[in-house]
Amino acid sequence: MRHLLTHGAGLLLAFCLLAPSGARAEGAKVLLYHHVSSETPSSTSVTPATFDAHLELIAEGDYEVVPLARIVDALINGGTLDPRWVAFTFDDAYESVATTAAPRLAERGWPFTVFVSTDAVDTGTGPVLDWDALRALEAGGATIANHTLTHEHMVRRRSGESEDAWLGRLAREVMGAQERLEAELEDPLRVFAYPYGEFNAAIAHLMQSLGFIAFGQQSGPVGGTSSPYAIPRFPLARGFDSVDSLAEKLRTEHLPLINPDIPATLLSADAGAPVLEFTVAESSGLRPGTLTCFIGGQPKTEVSWQEGGRIRVQAERPLWAGRTKYTCTAPHPDKPRVYYWHTHLYIRPHSDGSWYSG
Ligand SMILES: [Zn+2]
Repeated sequence: MRHLLTHGAGLLLAFCLLAPSGARAEGAKVLLYHHVSSETPSSTSVTPATFDAHLELIAEGDYEVVPLARIVDALINGGTLDPRWVAFTFDDAYESVATTAAPRLAERGWPFTVFVSTDAVDTGTGPVLDWDALRALEAGGATIANHTLTHEHMVRRRSGESEDAWLGRLAREVMGAQERLEAELEDPLRVFAYPYGEFNAAIAHLMQSLGFIAFGQQSGPVGGTSSPYAIPRFPLARGFDSVDSLAEKLRTEHLPLINPDIPATLLSADAGAPVLEFTVAESSGLRPGTLTCFIGGQPKTEVSWQEGGRIRVQAERPLWAGRTKYTCTAPHPDKPRVYYWHTHLYIRPHSDGSWYSG
């Protein structure tokens, strides 16, 4: 106590350096896996050995593996999203989740969530778990949640489909899957993951009106200015799953923004190079010129820093058809090796309006 009193001024200074403008550090991490197997497509798989290395890294670091519901509760209720929090999620309920991932997580007593497209489970399409297996995971402490009935690309309107008809069809995808989950399971969580991580503002608003919290696949840590209908996750699959790369992601913090947009945009078929704009909150302590943005398939990305923390990110070339992420990072002003991280997803059809596969 005496130390605190006599060194008050020094402590205050230290506090200011660590927490610019009184900001609290935020940035819970939600990890996204599909298969944990050496036999499945690499774009959606990590090997069991890599998965073991990930678990070891998290166990040895200063992290706490929490149920997804803890992160959701903190986000909705204005609680602090501790940067040490890590949640495991698995999309599509593949067999390797039960055979390979679940036993490893159970050994450490770590919770996880599985997002399920219910039609595939009902019809036994592909290497997916059946309801008995999902019930067994649930009985073991896993959370099961909603990933639509049919794993639709939600942004794709059918030809001649009105906006109302489109949103009505999506609502049936979500509510139909929730009915199936509630009929088959004890206590499915009312949270949702967008198939392929594809959504836009209209779909995020639909999820809000249906009373669902929703997760995307744009990478980044979760913080107070993350939309509850567009929560970021870090996808882990071969090529992006090295231990070093995971360690870097686990050290990130949430970049607080002023009035953030929904972080995904559906572009028109004739879209060129979209400009991403957002405003960084002063509480971040971010210094002008320290933000770097990467755009998939582009040589170099220009970032301009305007008055009041307004950031403008311009791609050099038009985006290809498909999903393109603008990923912006900046070194934390006070914490060595810690990065702020923010991602915005763009979805673009081919120039003739047709859609890419997958
Ligand atoms: Zn999926």
